[in-house]
Amino acid sequence: MRYLILSDIHGNWEALSAVLADAHGKYDQILNCGDLVGYGPDPNAVVDWARANTAAGIRGNHDKSCVGLEDLEWFNPVAKTSAIWTSKTLTELNREYLRHLPAGPMPVSDFQILHGSPANEDEYLVTQQEAGYVASLVHTQVSFFGHTHLQGGFLLHRNGVKLLTPYAFQLEADSRYLVNPGSVGQPRDHDPDAAYAIYTPDQRLVEFGRVPYDIETTQRKIVNAGLPDKLAHRLMVGK
Ligand code: ZN
Repeated sequence: MRYLILSDIHGNWEALSAVLADAHGKYDQILNCGDLVGYGPDPNAVVDWARANTAAGIRGNHDKSCVGLEDLEWFNPVAKTSAIWTSKTLTELNREYLRHLPAGPMPVSDFQILHGSPANEDEYLVTQQEAGYVASLVHTQVSFFGHTHLQGGFLLHRNGVKLLTPYAFQLEADSRYLVNPGSVGQPRDHDPDAAYAIYTPDQRLVEFGRVPYDIETTQRKIVNAGLPDKLAHRLMVGK
């Protein structure tokens, strides 16, 4: 079994389409680490696709806020505007699907998927120190997470925590891994290309992918939907 691991698609249909084309033939099942919607102009197309094509998935903080499961008061004004727009735009069927997505961590075979951190789905794992704090909660050798929109993650070893650079690697028996596939629909690691990961347990292999997509079309849709310009601009700079 080979898994295509996707996170933070954020209603970006062009980015998702480019990832699926780029990863074509390299996976058997698709897993979603949360935030299918929010920010992007195509929440229904993305959730329609997820309902039909993902083998398993968990919710992200934007999925929760766009279906009324979370108070919007903690969101910045841009995220709040997009959550309200998304909430109005979602079909009833898609709203129900998002509402019933479970919270992570969710076990899948002998690994797990989660959105923020193993301790809290809304918590960000950005630094080695933050990953170190939750190391004792990581019971599978590999966990895939999202939320930060930064491709890479962390290697947990008894001697300390290392940052993982997004290059293919093989799991080593004495380490555990928190792997971030990066964001499909709104990368923030200064690379605007859509991000993903592929995990092949039989070969103990984790690979990362990056693919350009038609950003201009997504930007035009964002502006036409009346969503904040900032959401269109940030896609170009990957921030
Ligand atoms: Zn996100």
